[in-house]
Amino acid sequence: MDINFSAEDVAFRDEVREFFDKEYDSEVSKRQADNHSSDYKSSIVAWQKKLHAKGWIAPDWPVEYGGTGWSSTQKYIYETERGLAGIPDVIPFGLKMVAPVIYTFGTEEQKVRFLPRILSSDDWWCQGYSEPGAGSDLAALTTSAEYAGDNYIVNGRKIWTTLAQFADWIFCLVRTSKGVRRQEGISFLLIDMKSPGITVKPIIAIDGQHSLNEVLFENVLVPTENLIGEQDKGWTYAKALLAHERTGMAEVADSKRMLDQLKLRAVAEVNGGKPMIEDPVFQMRLSDIEMELMALEYTELRVFASMASGGMPGPESSLLKIKGTEISQSIHELQLQLASYYGGALQGELSSEVLGHNFATEARGKYMYGRAATIYGGSNEVQRNVIAKAVLGL
Ligand SMILES: Cc1cc2nc3c(=O)[nH]c(=O)nc-3n(C[C@H](O)[C@H](O)[C@H](O)COP(=O)(O)OP(=O)(O)OC[C@H]3O[C@@H](n4cnc5c(N)ncnc54)[C@H](O)[C@@H]3O)c2cc1C
Repeated sequence: MDINFSAEDVAFRDEVREFFDKEYDSEVSKRQADNHSSDYKSSIVAWQKKLHAKGWIAPDWPVEYGGTGWSSTQKYIYETERGLAGIPDVIPFGLKMVAPVIYTFGTEEQKVRFLPRILSSDDWWCQGYSEPGAGSDLAALTTSAEYAGDNYIVNGRKIWTTLAQFADWIFCLVRTSKGVRRQEGISFLLIDMKSPGITVKPIIAIDGQHSLNEVLFENVLVPTENLIGEQDKGWTYAKALLAHERTGMAEVADSKRMLDQLKLRAVAEVNGGKPMIEDPVFQMRLSDIEMELMALEYTELRVFASMASGGMPGPESSLLKIKGTEISQSIHELQLQLASYYGGALQGELSSEVLGHNFATEARGKYMYGRAATIYGGSNEVQRNVIAKAVLGL
């Protein structure tokens, strides 16, 4: 694996940097930290439309559907620059989750109907997999879709549906047959959120934000043309999606940026006291995390290199998910420690001057929401089982 960038790659990196520098409005990050704000959705959509206009909204899609045609190295550079610039990733449910299922397994009509509106962010999607009693054990799902001529009639309840309150569409796993092996009776349906019989109920999480919901289906009619692939084969399509979802969860560049900011802040001297960076326990934790992050970065590069030569993400995606989320949680803990160290010595305005405006509030929010990262996308315990089975043969 050659990790030196070519002259073309360096020129590409500079172009990406310049674009982010010129076009990204950092207000988007602030609004994205609060999804109660009235312009939460519009500010995200506006940024995604800029990426679309530049042709950069969907690096992973095949070129024929609107992808960039970038090499794996260019994709890596783009992701790294995005993370280092502190720019949030695109909302994944349309662009990174359902779109690959549609262009891989959908009909021509479905591709024409759905893909352009996902690219342009005119449709906002959400993911309806989990149910009460069917999370890690997803095959236990009971939301039913009964075949009735031109429609399916859907009844049931999805939970933890992220940002469903803004969604135009939901992609759902539903049970279409009983009495066979559990995974074999599941189908993949695209459902219009405006359909009569759908109710979205908010769930306010520990960080005070409204990102989660329950979605209830009561005799919802879904045209059969919204079925992906074959009836009862939805499990196969859903599995293909999950490996892609996890590969993007390492967030190395985002963690690097958080660590750099942490170090910059930790050198501040306060009221004649020692800066936090001189605390040996803090130093030890910081260097532990840096070493873990470097190891993760090289593992991620190895996975990219294998995908560049035609490989698919396999159990490595579980490994990236586990380590990436554990590292970001450790950084959130250090941010909170830093906030309390300086917060104890300083009052309001002075604390803002040393740590940056709103640092303590943001650190608390990141810590709280960050707890969920080891649960969503398949919990880390379950990912360890995947590795044990696929790599260690247990
Ligand atoms: C913030 C957030 C956003 C989410 N967004 C969405 C979304 O948009 N759409 C969606 O469909 N779902 C979403 N989810 C749901 C998520 O996928 C599930 O929470 C997850 O799959 C775990 O399922 P569960 O919550 O039912 O926990 P359970 O499956 O009940 O697990 C409880 C505990 O038992 C452990 N466990 C379970 N089985 C095993 C096993 N076999 N071996 C070892 N340990 C095990 C788990 O690791 C966990 O610690 C979201 C969750 C969160 C927290």
